[in-house]
Amino acid sequence: MNYITIDKEKCKACYLCINECPKKLLQVSKDTNKLGDHVVEFNDPDNKCLGCAMCATRCPDMAITGVYKG
Ligand code: SF4
Ligand code: SF4
Repeated sequence: MNYITIDKEKCKACYLCINECPKKLLQVSKDTNKLGDHVVEFNDPDNKCLGCAMCATRCPDMAITGVYKG
């Protein structure tokens, strides 16, 4: 199962990653970080993540801290 990890304190809520994901697995969260930004969250109930790292590459703040394939 492939998955990513997000550091919500690094996320600036620019949402660039949402459009980048070919499987549309990133969404705006109800959760906020310390700055009050609605961060993104990974939502992959059907295990569609490719582990392609396109989301992590697109993020200007290096908030997607891990891409795991397995
Ligand atoms: S691209 Fe990075 S900073 Fe922007 S919303 Fe996604 S994880 Fe957050
Ligand atoms: S690794 Fe690829 S498929 Fe998985 S969330 Fe990031 S962009 Fe989407």
